[in-house]
Amino acid sequence: MDVSVVIPVYNEAQNIILLYDRLQRVLALLPHSYEIIFINDGSRDQSEQLLDQLYHQDPEHVRIVHFNGNFGQHMAIMAGFEQSIGQTVITLDADLQNPPEEIPALLEEMAKGHDIVEGVRQGRQDNAFRRYASRINNWIRAKTTGIRLQDQGSMLRAYDRRVVDLMLMSKEQSTFIPALAYSYASSPGFVAVKHAQRHSGYSKYSLARLLRLHFDLMAGFSSAPLQWVTFTGMSVSILSFLFFIYMVIRRLVIGPEADGLFTLFAIQFLLLGLLLFSVGIVGEYVGRIYLEVRKRPRFVIKKVLSKR
Ligand code: UDP
Ligand code: MG
Repeated sequence: MDVSVVIPVYNEAQNIILLYDRLQRVLALLPHSYEIIFINDGSRDQSEQLLDQLYHQDPEHVRIVHFNGNFGQHMAIMAGFEQSIGQTVITLDADLQNPPEEIPALLEEMAKGHDIVEGVRQGRQDNAFRRYASRINNWIRAKTTGIRLQDQGSMLRAYDRRVVDLMLMSKEQSTFIPALAYSYASSPGFVAVKHAQRHSGYSKYSLARLLRLHFDLMAGFSSAPLQWVTFTGMSVSILSFLFFIYMVIRRLVIGPEADGLFTLFAIQFLLLGLLLFSVGIVGEYVGRIYLEVRKRPRFVIKKVLSKR
């Protein structure tokens, strides 16, 4: 098998058929054997029936994995990787934001000897909040994890079999696939790709889910936030100590003082905020350790439809 296309699906009933048609048209023209793997991540709309229908219509190329519930986009992709046997594995979103017509460009770049190829979205079609948040996140990630992705949120990517197998050996409970792949790649490449509006339906990422995803990226690939906490704590201690010395001397030289009550409040609130934030960061890591030690399966498969 040359190419596997892996697609996570969560309530995408309005997009599946059109996506399959466009994919089919692109892949049939390539001189490669291919498979299309859909992972139904616990959809509650008609996605399940539609995917079953697609499988019966084209069992040569289509494979379906139905999850038992919603385990998240990145776990769905992992399950797709498990099923895949292609020498090159392509991921893309089910909502047609990633045009299937860009797949040949990714494969061409892979043929130059890269082991991962990133599709860098040009003219990104998301709202301003998402675009700016991404820019900030890209910057923080590059500074803390040393992972050099050009467009971390782009899921239109190609991976070599070796990298996919290494990802499958990584058994963490939550992960961020593009960053994981980057950490195993020896020759990352990239191509510019188009980006479209979501064809139908709405984004599955609420603000809370986006935050969780970014913590997966930060906490999963770096312990730098813990060092920031330590560093901030050290700096505050040193400043407080100097302040303390100053107050003692002032008390001896000038005498007692009682002004500046609200300044004290302000400083107090700032420190309290920093403290809570720091406890939260530590909690993020502790929570992840807890998920790992429970050793529960990271996703549960209800049914696999595959001719193999
Ligand atoms: N997705 C998924 N499980 C989830 C959330 C999303 O499988 O819990 C899929 C979704 O169906 C889509 C892709 O992941 O194919 C990207 O999701 P979405 O388009 O909602 O994210 P956005 O483009 O807004 O970042
Ligand atoms: Mg989308």
